Amino acid sequence: MKYIIGNWKCNPANKIEAKKILLGYKKGVKKNAKAKAVICPPACYLELAREILKNSAELGAQNCHWEEGAFTGEISPAQLKSAGCSCAIIGHSERRHKFGETDQAINKKVIAALSAGLAPIFCCGETREQRIDGQITDVVEKQMEEGLKGIDLNSAPLMIAYEPVWAIGTGQACDSDEAAVVSRFIKNITNEKIPLLYGGSVNTKNAASYLKDADYDGLLAGGASLDPKEFCAIFTALREL
Ligand code: PEP
Repeated sequence: MKYIIGNWKCNPANKIEAKKILLGYKKGVKKNAKAKAVICPPACYLELAREILKNSAELGAQNCHWEEGAFTGEISPAQLKSAGCSCAIIGHSERRHKFGETDQAINKKVIAALSAGLAPIFCCGETREQRIDGQITDVVEKQMEEGLKGIDLNSAPLMIAYEPVWAIGTGQACDSDEAAVVSRFIKNITNEKIPLLYGGSVNTKNAASYLKDADYDGLLAGGASLDPKEFCAIFTALREL
């Protein structure tokens, strides 16, 4: 199975625009035996997305908290599950770097998501400085060790997304041969049991190369997921690989 996950981030500004995007990819991302699309809109559009995308794409969350109750502004995995999500992005670089999320907090989220029946999409990746310093695999290893502490990598229904921070939203995607080094490193740790995604300025031109040349099982797309034509074209390209 090949995966394409769409991360809308904090977009679009209103429900009318959200509906246009959802209707735009309704027919182009039909579930089939070869490829699966998962859309992760802001929580306020989950119900709309559920209605429009039923029988085509699955729904995911962009984040979650690890508890329920007196946590103003947060959403729990159980609430997301009941809103129709099958998975949740956890540890996205924007959460790590703009909201100060630690590996320990990410670990709590992963554990909570799994126990509520949500599959975590665990994100990891190095900054530009760490890359220049030659620390790519050290950074990824530490993020995985701490963020996935206590998780059985042989059986947990999770996905890992390698997302070099410098490639996210910049238009500078990682070369597939460089991405291949990291995919070998991660798959060595996971025994290839966990689907591995690449994320970082994915588009129709570079999408297939990560699966064909770098042994990824799918993609996490931000910008491209807001353009239904682009997203559906990537979905079709993966399905035909
Ligand atoms: C992302 O949001 O995880 C992402 C990879 O964004 P973009 O595709 O825009 O680089």
